[in-house]
Amino acid sequence: MSEQPIYLDYAATTPVDPRVLEIMLPYFTEHFGNPASKSHSYGNTAAAAVEEAREKLAKAINARPQEIIFTSGATEAINLAIKGAALANESKGKHFITVATEHKAVLDCFDWLENNGYETTVLPVDSEGILDPQQVADAIRPNTVMVSVMMVNNEIGVIQDIAAIGAICKQHDVYFMTDATQGLGKEKIDVKAMNIDLLTASSHKIYGPKGVGMLYAKRSNPRVRLDPIQHGGGHEKGLRSGTLPTPLIVGFGAAVQIACKGMKKEQARLRKFRDELQNELLNKVPGASVNGHLENRVAGILNINLPPVDAEALVASLSDRLAFSTGSACTTERIQSSHVLEILRLTNTRHAIRLSLGLGLEQKLLDKTMTCIVSEHQRLAQFI
Ligand SMILES: *Cc1c(COP(=O)(O)O)cnc(C)c1O
Repeated sequence: MSEQPIYLDYAATTPVDPRVLEIMLPYFTEHFGNPASKSHSYGNTAAAAVEEAREKLAKAINARPQEIIFTSGATEAINLAIKGAALANESKGKHFITVATEHKAVLDCFDWLENNGYETTVLPVDSEGILDPQQVADAIRPNTVMVSVMMVNNEIGVIQDIAAIGAICKQHDVYFMTDATQGLGKEKIDVKAMNIDLLTASSHKIYGPKGVGMLYAKRSNPRVRLDPIQHGGGHEKGLRSGTLPTPLIVGFGAAVQIACKGMKKEQARLRKFRDELQNELLNKVPGASVNGHLENRVAGILNINLPPVDAEALVASLSDRLAFSTGSACTTERIQSSHVLEILRLTNTRHAIRLSLGLGLEQKLLDKTMTCIVSEHQRLAQFI
């Protein structure tokens, strides 16, 4: 039996925390009721568990529970936020603004907007992946409905100045949406202080189960107007019909609570590991360079160029020992080069790997990771 490769792809997904799983289990069996069944205790028990999870998620971002809508993941939440706002606000305008480094879920919704008679502006970032908030102010028009800027980039880990962009959006009376899928449980989020009107997140990026996510939509001053994009029984205030997956929602609530409680400590631990890994690779690989802003960056993501070796070849030849990638999982599936790195106008994106760290990583595994990458890189570099 060969050992399992060391997992270094926490930005793609995370394992379910055993504590989270334990809390979920009774909701598959004993407490299996439909949360929408109001006439008996089976339904009421499930409904109470859903509401408790909703409160935990609201608390994590300083929102109110009634502002949280459960979805199947961040992708669905993003679709509901963008398309739902587009359909509900046509009297206000048809212009939407986003950034070129967004997740494909956002960019593909913007393609949908373009193809369905809306106008879009996609803003560039600087060579370190940062969006200048002034560019947002300059792009806003009288008919702008929404600005969408991700909090933490999933490929390079860069954190945008969400509070500054939120303030600009408030001043211009346009909705501000942020995809916080890589930020929830990792960076402090306060939707009130940051003037966020819509926020999306996902359970499986924070040690919760796959298949559940959320949309926060502000309900007062202003109340965000959304049309549903999925119709049915009118669940989730009519915005997302479909029976709620109680065990997944309970797991999401438990996961966010655990993540927020241990946030400072875990981020400090991962930052130390990330810096150690970064310094070792910069020292041992001639010409190595880091992608993305060095300060405004989440602790657990390192995107680094390791020339002259082809990144895909390095990932493949290490795959029996290390599990990591050259970019986002979604990009990998499409077999494209990274749109994020191309936007940074890197002369060559072929040498970039993404290492994303998380709970399971320990010093011993980190040491082994560094040895493996450096020696395999050296071996492959000989042939170039
Ligand atoms: C993973 C991810 C998504 C998609 O989330 P799903 O829940 O898998 O649909 C969206 N945005 C970012 C930044 C992500 O990292």
